Amino acid sequence: MMQGTITITPGAITTVHTYTAPNDGAFVTTHVIELADELVVVDAQYVLPFAREAADYARTLNKPITRLYVSHNHPDHFFGAAEFGSGVAVYALAEIKKSIEAEGDQQIADGRSQLGDLVPEQATKPQHVVEPGVEIIGGARFEFRRLENTESSSALTIALPDEEILLAQDLLFNNIHLWFAERHFDGWAAAVEQYRQLPYRHLLPGHGRPGGRELYDRVLEYLAFAEPALKNAHSGEQLKQALVAHFPEYEGVLLIDLQNSLYLFPQQPASAGQ
Ligand SMILES: [Zn+2]
Repeated sequence: MMQGTITITPGAITTVHTYTAPNDGAFVTTHVIELADELVVVDAQYVLPFAREAADYARTLNKPITRLYVSHNHPDHFFGAAEFGSGVAVYALAEIKKSIEAEGDQQIADGRSQLGDLVPEQATKPQHVVEPGVEIIGGARFEFRRLENTESSSALTIALPDEEILLAQDLLFNNIHLWFAERHFDGWAAAVEQYRQLPYRHLLPGHGRPGGRELYDRVLEYLAFAEPALKNAHSGEQLKQALVAHFPEYEGVLLIDLQNSLYLFPQQPASAGQ
């Protein structure tokens, strides 16, 4: 039985299949954009079992995976890249490509020290740069945009404007606790306000299942609560309690624990590096 879930967002000429990992995989998403003759994958999972599950699902569609886009340089979005096949062209924004070239192997080493063989032995380095703008791939229009200072310092979003579909990745989370370790509360909220002006109806988040335009408000609400909660918290446990009490139906408490121990309230300062 599959551990993750699949949600299908049908469009006129493309279909997006979203794999959402279970709790152990931080509910991170991999999207498989099905075009006429090929598949384009967005984000590659954190741990290998879920990357394999997502890749196995893609193989059931019986079309070649031609491209993999990595939205940003957080481990949960690129560690599993090799599972999608050695012939796949891996794309990222220039600065993300550079970051993974410089730090990916150290990120992998840190991951292996915590998770062992659940993490691959080497980082898959993107070979290609994606530039913001519009590109036709397999007959479909893709719109690439760069986000700055949101969930991460830089990130890629991908839209299928003719299908009203936005692959927002970590700009949006759905019913999952947000990862705000980089503390770009203002930049993140401003980007959400900007994106809500865009005409997309199907919003595919980086964590959690696909949703609709309500995700914008929910992320803004979370950011508005989390910023003062972090400021007022004297410990990770206090922050966690505040977040869980205010968002009792949210999943991904694991993300709060990780974020506290690694970044916000580190026990050992040395572990805070990427
Ligand atoms: Zn993420």
